[in-house]
Amino acid sequence: MCAASTPARAGFATSSHSSCIVPTGVTRYNALLLPKRTKTWGHKHMKFVTSLAVGVLLCSGITSADTLIHAGRLIDGKSDVAVTEMTIRVDGSAIKAIERGYTAAGADDNVIELKSHTVMPGLMDMHVHLTAEYTRDYRLNKFITNEADYAFDAAKNAKKTLNAGFTVVRNLGDTFNVTVALRKAIEDGDVAGPRIFSAAKSLATTGGHADPTNGWANHLMGDPGPKQGVINGPDDARKAVRQRYKDGADWIKITATGGVLSVAKSGLNPQFTDEELKAVIDTASDYGLRVAAHAHGTEGMKRAVIAGVASIEHGTFMDEEVMRLMKKKGTYYVPTILAGDWIAEKARIDGFFPDLVRPKAAAIGPVIKSTFAAAYKAGVPIVFGTDSGVSAHGDNAQEFALMVEGGMPPMVAIKSATSVAAKFLRIDDTHGTLESGKQADIVAVPGNPLDDITVMERVNFVMKAGEIIRYDQYPSQNSP
Ligand SMILES: [Zn+2]
Repeated sequence: MCAASTPARAGFATSSHSSCIVPTGVTRYNALLLPKRTKTWGHKHMKFVTSLAVGVLLCSGITSADTLIHAGRLIDGKSDVAVTEMTIRVDGSAIKAIERGYTAAGADDNVIELKSHTVMPGLMDMHVHLTAEYTRDYRLNKFITNEADYAFDAAKNAKKTLNAGFTVVRNLGDTFNVTVALRKAIEDGDVAGPRIFSAAKSLATTGGHADPTNGWANHLMGDPGPKQGVINGPDDARKAVRQRYKDGADWIKITATGGVLSVAKSGLNPQFTDEELKAVIDTASDYGLRVAAHAHGTEGMKRAVIAGVASIEHGTFMDEEVMRLMKKKGTYYVPTILAGDWIAEKARIDGFFPDLVRPKAAAIGPVIKSTFAAAYKAGVPIVFGTDSGVSAHGDNAQEFALMVEGGMPPMVAIKSATSVAAKFLRIDDTHGTLESGKQADIVAVPGNPLDDITVMERVNFVMKAGEIIRYDQYPSQNSP
């Protein structure tokens, strides 16, 4: 062990490497382990790093310290079958190799024993709202919650989400653009959380599902515009999309129809004209952004699919024509069955929802599961998403059991949250499967989710970019 082997700089201190660096690995080591901001170091710093690395080589030989994960069962996110007794070799932030059997550790290697577990790629949720969680007091909270309060809540919810095994999320609608700031804080390593793709504040039309002043007293309502996410006409639509680009959004979210939880009469009516949809999608495409459309009612959903949105969220009253259109255009369906289930359950409690919301919740909630079943049967592309923030953050994996109840085989459900989600987000070159060269986002559950899908709700090992986030060890490590 060489005294000079662990540089005091923060970027190195968090590395899982212990002491040694392979000669050819010097460049790769720098690239993989230096946090983003250190890439802007001057020449002098790089010289310091290089001479330090050479010093390490001289004193500790040429072996490299890897982390070996002994996986009792491995689901790689790509293949249709699981394999047993495998080793995942992790080097820095990346998967270096997948090896058959339990590879014996070298002197400097770390071993993680997950022989009684099923190990799989980090999970991805395509529909969350990290800034909030719906409660009975949800409406009043808007008037007593400050920007910083939202930010701290979002950081807490991000941590819960990551601990539940979700290493990537798409945040579809937030308050004060908090998830854009949170995305940066997570990228910089200041806060623990999943990688975030953020739509910042959603877009609605006046009185529409994401009009932030719905249900307020008239004297407080004002007249929110494109900056606040409310558009009327193509000019407003273009301005609102450009504003989100300026705010740092990765996606655009629109509320193409009414919604369940907004204080408005209909959850189904179409809320964007064809001209408005075209303006949103054309402008978004100019800026390299794609559009996600919240939709319950058939007409608004159909308009959004024809206009070219990338995904339909909830899709409650999706009919055969819409399914056909989605298949043809490659539009993904994000079911959020969990949100429907949760809402239907809460609608039974007196006073939980405002009077205008309760009947919508009771009527719309239970329909989503049967829509999901029909859409899966029809071959609509489906990607995993929960609408967490309606239900509690950290409960995201409950969606898997609901998908399986809706007729989707467990392996297909797991893929919808791994390789399919990565492809949908266009990060499949680095994420979504366990393969050499991919980022080491790895989770494990005790037991076999192909036999009992509910074990997905008991993730107890999480690694993100090679860093161990949680590793709950159990006395027994028997083979599964
Ligand atoms: Zn939502």
